[in-house]
Amino acid sequence: MITVSNVDKRYGDFQALTDVSLDIPTGSLTALLGPSGSGKSTLLRVIAGLERPDAGSVVLEDKDVTHVPPQERGVGFVFQHYAAFKHMSVRDNVAFGLKIRKRPKAEIEEKVDELLGVVGLAGYQKRYPSQLSGGQRQRMALARALAVEPKVLLLDEPFGALDAKVRAELRAWLRRLHEEVHVTTVLVTHDQEEAMDVTDRIAVMSDGRIEQVGPPRELYDRPETPFVMSFLGEVS
Ligand code: ATP
Ligand code: MG
Repeated sequence: MITVSNVDKRYGDFQALTDVSLDIPTGSLTALLGPSGSGKSTLLRVIAGLERPDAGSVVLEDKDVTHVPPQERGVGFVFQHYAAFKHMSVRDNVAFGLKIRKRPKAEIEEKVDELLGVVGLAGYQKRYPSQLSGGQRQRMALARALAVEPKVLLLDEPFGALDAKVRAELRAWLRRLHEEVHVTTVLVTHDQEEAMDVTDRIAVMSDGRIEQVGPPRELYDRPETPFVMSFLGEVS
């Protein structure tokens, strides 16, 4: 379980998050859904430890990590404009986290083969990121995040820059991967369809606050605030 309690985050005078509380069950695939500027990335960065909240706490699996640095939290993340190591092959990109953790060579080889298979890049390991399509590069980024066996996977609009067809493919693929691996996953998106399609639970955000949390169907059938009603009402 990820438990975010009463988190405030300010940038100077600007209040980006106000009294945000959210439980994310272990093994779930949860979306943070909301319009641009609603605080989705900020909340994800607070969970990752890349931003320090001004108030409140973050607990990961019963451990208060509010003051724990990102690399000690057991989280993996993938951002929209993912910076791959351009001078490294696909294989070396995926192996990177394991190498810096000084895992035995044989273990690294085995793990990387397995992951490249999982993300459908088994034949691409010697290529460089510039020789991959956008979707393949995102899958490489996911393999790299998964390599260190994170307890939590944080995805900030990982498919945002891609065309609709590739996005739909990657969504379906993420759904299947989640069914196989069951890593607790938080997916940030401003796309209702993506949130509906991929996740079990949606937390709707507006203006630095959580408006409502629940299974996709419930949000559509029983919106609790005018914002949720109008935001979700824009499609479907
Ligand atoms: P988008 O869908 O556009 O990515 P978002 O929901 O992820 O939006 P955030 O990036 O969390 O939104 O930003 C929330 C608010 O905080 C925005 O108004 C943004 O301008 C502001 N903000 C974010 N980062 C900073 C920063 N480093 N300094 C000042 N303001 C910031
Ligand atoms: Mg964002």
